[in-house]
Amino acid sequence: MTSVGVVGAGVMGAGVAHSAALAGHEVVLVDVRPAALQAAVRRVERDCRMSRLLTGRSVDTAAVVGRITTAGSVAALGDCEIVVENVTEKWEVKRPVYAELDDACPAETIFIGNTSAIPITRLGSATNRPDRVIGVHFMNPVPMKSAVELIPGRLTSAETVKRTREFLGTMGKEPIPVKDSCGFISNRVLMLTVNEAAFLVHEGVATAAAVDEVFRNCFGHPSGPLETADLIGIDTVLYSLEVLYEHYADPKYRPCPLLREMTDAGLHGRKAGEGFFAYESAGEERG
Ligand code: NAD
Repeated sequence: MTSVGVVGAGVMGAGVAHSAALAGHEVVLVDVRPAALQAAVRRVERDCRMSRLLTGRSVDTAAVVGRITTAGSVAALGDCEIVVENVTEKWEVKRPVYAELDDACPAETIFIGNTSAIPITRLGSATNRPDRVIGVHFMNPVPMKSAVELIPGRLTSAETVKRTREFLGTMGKEPIPVKDSCGFISNRVLMLTVNEAAFLVHEGVATAAAVDEVFRNCFGHPSGPLETADLIGIDTVLYSLEVLYEHYADPKYRPCPLLREMTDAGLHGRKAGEGFFAYESAGEERG
């Protein structure tokens, strides 16, 4: 059993907290928004209850939820051996979080960055322990996905890689090693696809339903790119494209204006109850 800090209680933080608590770790979940913490705990409870239906495995919901405590600041993570960071995909949001974590946690604590695109070496530069900063790109929904991208930064030590692999092993996650590079493998490809799909809708070439139908029915993909964008979060897609665009200074990553408009309108996808598609459940952002 390890004491695990999880910073950011949105889509990914809730999933990471769920998987870590399910593996028997004690979890301290941190967010600056009390509503996000409440929604995350509700979501873990709901997903534990649905586990038998989705995975065929029943879960002791009370035991899993009982291993998760919540806090409003990273100051609560002083006893954690591992911290998984899942805050908003913006460097100006992540950078101060790493500096605060560096002050709050013992020197040996490992910081795992769960970012869609920001290079891990850059995350490490916000701390005095770049050798103990590593990237793990968890997949969404975290409890349902068995593989992750494992990204050591330029200065990440072999010991940090080893301890991170051990931690991932406790959660049954298979690490796929990837060199540190903005967007890693997954989002160098996926974000371009999602962005181009958004452009098709923006230009009136096709409806969102038609775009996804082609991917599902013609290519046999389990879901289309716009349904995937709704699952990720439209705001997170936009911010990831902005990170890629800024990093590579390459116009191929310029975000579709429709993604910006949807983000400004609060149409953040599944978590908001509406994105390219509408969802029956209210969505966590609406409580
Ligand atoms: P989200 O918007 O659902 O949640 C982000 C959370 O961070 C919010 O609840 C916000 O209140 C919190 N936050 C912001 N500033 C904070 C601070 N200073 N301290 C504590 N909490 C703070 O986003 P998400 O989808 O969970 O993404 C989180 C990270 O995971 C991002 O870097 C994203 O790129 C990455 N990621 C997302 C997906 C996905 O499918 N959504 C997949 C893999 C990785």
